[in-house]
Amino acid sequence: MLDVPADVSEELAPACAPSGIPSDGVTLDPADWTDTRALGHRMLDDMFDYLRDIRQRPVWQPIPDSVRAEFHAALPTGPTDMAAVYRDFTERILPYSSGNAHPAFMGWVQGGGTVTGMLAEMLAGGLNANCGGRDHIPIEVERQVGEWARQMFGFPEGAAGLFVTGSSMANFMAVLIARTQALGASARQTGVTFPCPHLVAYTSSAAHGCIAKGMDMSGLGSAMLRRISTDAAHRIRISELRAAIAADRLAGLKPFLIVGTAGTVDIGAIDDLETLSALAAAEGLWFHVDGACAALGILTPDLAPKLKGIERADSIAFDFHKWAQVPYDAGFLLVRDGKKQLETFAAPAAYLRREARGMSAGSPWPCDFGPDLSRGFRALKTWFTLKVHGTAQLGAVMSRTCELAQYLKRLVEQTPELALAAPVQLNIVCFRYRSPNSDAVNARIVTELQESGIAVPSTTTLEGRLAIRAAIVNHRTQPRDLEALIDAVVQSGRGA
Ligand SMILES: *Cc1c(COP(=O)(O)O)cnc(C)c1O
Repeated sequence: MLDVPADVSEELAPACAPSGIPSDGVTLDPADWTDTRALGHRMLDDMFDYLRDIRQRPVWQPIPDSVRAEFHAALPTGPTDMAAVYRDFTERILPYSSGNAHPAFMGWVQGGGTVTGMLAEMLAGGLNANCGGRDHIPIEVERQVGEWARQMFGFPEGAAGLFVTGSSMANFMAVLIARTQALGASARQTGVTFPCPHLVAYTSSAAHGCIAKGMDMSGLGSAMLRRISTDAAHRIRISELRAAIAADRLAGLKPFLIVGTAGTVDIGAIDDLETLSALAAAEGLWFHVDGACAALGILTPDLAPKLKGIERADSIAFDFHKWAQVPYDAGFLLVRDGKKQLETFAAPAAYLRREARGMSAGSPWPCDFGPDLSRGFRALKTWFTLKVHGTAQLGAVMSRTCELAQYLKRLVEQTPELALAAPVQLNIVCFRYRSPNSDAVNARIVTELQESGIAVPSTTTLEGRLAIRAAIVNHRTQPRDLEALIDAVVQSGRGA
């Protein structure tokens, strides 16, 4: 039991009139809407200022111990004035967030978010829609975005789509759908321990770790994922893939899934999706594309040709929260044949009974297409983003980040202390500060840069050696941010 202070417990206790009918009680709505309204407007103005002036802030800063300690407080049993809680936010949360909205953030592969998305999130929060199912317009908004996704990738009618947290979840779900297709829907009851041929999946050694995790979580086992080697441009070697499938068939195993990558996380390589789709079709395997960042390159004419073949995939995982700048989180799974997604996830339940009319109409519901029942309104911020900016503007942002990556590549090439570590094919540039003690020096440079607040690159390992990695995803990044990055890397490197 919580130790509720006497005054509060009294306030919350249902006050019963002598008739036994409870009287109206307190709600969680503001006691004073005027004050709350003023505070809300201030929050909004502050966030507008924050985003307008973000360039003047450090990208990231280390968290002082005293600030971190504030987040080891006791469970609040009583109320606190919202203005005081908001002050905590402005002083202790806002300055120490990860900074991926900042133009000089180039770490990992993260989107910058937009004012459009922020406002839509507020509206979605107000509605508090539960998008698991039932007949209400927020579900139609999600279906609309799914239909737009179908059109973007040239999928046929009957395709299905679903918002999920991110591509990690979307890739996991694709493994499950491919499994159900390979073993039949009865595998949902028997499970994967039932004697059946061992299923084998294939992807490249440059694939994201969530593919192996998806195999693990599905019960098929990450050891049943073959990681095929890549060529110099980090694309899967098709001849080796072909040989691996043949060898597995000969050994009595059951190949069931090929996962191609559109935009590897390390260097942004795109597999030969057209050849992969043909191979999967010839072998009778499910063809899934992990297009977390780069699949949405389909929106710009200069990137779409690189994705040729994606339109023939059985399923595509991608994130609106990366290149399309929708605020976190907004992952998506698009499946060519929606029936197969239903066969994998739909499960009748008495309390989710469907009707032809009323609020229980409109079956199938989003909960039939994935693991979640209660789901937030991720579609709204995506719908706003697509409508307000249009696909042409979003595509232009993506093209521009690739153009900036080429500029960064030139800056690296023009700087004698630096060397490129991988070909620049998309929006990611990997490079090193030349040093006999390369791994340690480059790791130190990246940490120093992050702590300086000037720029946030991250690291990766290429051919066994550490490299500085700058993934240009943010729509706010400008050439001067890249110049500042290079200057800071060189200065830090010289200080070694
Ligand atoms: C980011 C990324 C993922 C993981 O996506 P999340 O949205 O972070 O779950 C998977 N694959 C690739 C290629 C990625 O870039």
